[in-house]
Amino acid sequence: MENPEKSLVARMHQVQLAVNLIELGARLQVLETETDLSRGRLLRLYKEVRGISPPKGMLPFSTDWFLTWSPNIHSSLFYGIYQRLTEEQGCKRIDAFVKAYRLYLEQVMLDDSEPVLGLNRAWTLLRFFESGLLELAECTSCHGRFVMHAHTPCKDYVCGICRPPSRAGKTSKARAKAHEAAKHDEVVVSLDPHVHCVDDAEAVPEPRPKRAAGMR
Ligand SMILES: [Zn+2]
Repeated sequence: MENPEKSLVARMHQVQLAVNLIELGARLQVLETETDLSRGRLLRLYKEVRGISPPKGMLPFSTDWFLTWSPNIHSSLFYGIYQRLTEEQGCKRIDAFVKAYRLYLEQVMLDDSEPVLGLNRAWTLLRFFESGLLELAECTSCHGRFVMHAHTPCKDYVCGICRPPSRAGKTSKARAKAHEAAKHDEVVVSLDPHVHCVDDAEAVPEPRPKRAAGMR
């Protein structure tokens, strides 16, 4: 709820945060959770910034997407940046999130790739880590750290870059490049041409109403 007693500066920070998130593609649910601005104000801000009403529909709620090949590489990259910002540079949670997402996009662009991890997915990822559903596992081959289901035995874990699925169909050159970057703890972005870049917003259809009993 919006607190009328809140200082003007604090309110301005909230608005700025909301604008930053909207610009990066945040859904209303993210904005409502991360700011204390009212829904009405967020809706107005959204329309002002994007020129349209926010899309309806639910945010993705499954951890499995983050474990598939290309999303796993992108998610691990993003979360690694986020962790460095919070743990090594003392950034606060939501500021680190926005910053990490921007840095992730920059890295993807530097690599001439498409972002696979949309902002809303990135936010869901953060929440999954915070609720202990996901954690990072170290690859026994390259020693990079990758997103993994929590409590998975990972003694012999080998990451998706070291052991790409055969359908990845990348050139050996691209693979070597990705691996080289991983070894140097640099950003790794390597896209699976078979996985389309679907932003979270469109990925999850709204639940359909159940058919009435007896209907075919
Ligand atoms: Zn590896």
